[in-house]
Amino acid sequence: MSEKTAIQIKRLLKEAASRSPGRFRIGGIAFNKKGEILGIAHNSFHKNNLTGDRKGTGDHCEARLIRRYRDNIKTIVIMRIGNAGDVLPIDPCPACQALCDKYGITVLTISGSKTKEF
Ligand SMILES: [Zn+2]
Repeated sequence: MSEKTAIQIKRLLKEAASRSPGRFRIGGIAFNKKGEILGIAHNSFHKNNLTGDRKGTGDHCEARLIRRYRDNIKTIVIMRIGNAGDVLPIDPCPACQALCDKYGITVLTISGSKTKEF
């Protein structure tokens, strides 16, 4: 992947993350095995639309991407930003990680501790 492409992907991730309505502003991009972008999502969780289990993953960007593109996804890259748009460390939650493992999806992060960096 060229440096230019990497910069474009980080810009798309930041835009997606900035659309998250909640405290955790996270964006994710799903890629197929050719490295093409399948889709982009952001976390949609917000305490105002909390209905069930707070730990539910249905609103996490990884789960949203998997719902849409499941078998075509090879890699998901996630990014978390703060209110000022600064990049914050993020790792997938255990439920999303398990979901990705189940479908053979590799998760990369822009900044994280447990997952490989993009
Ligand atoms: Zn999650």
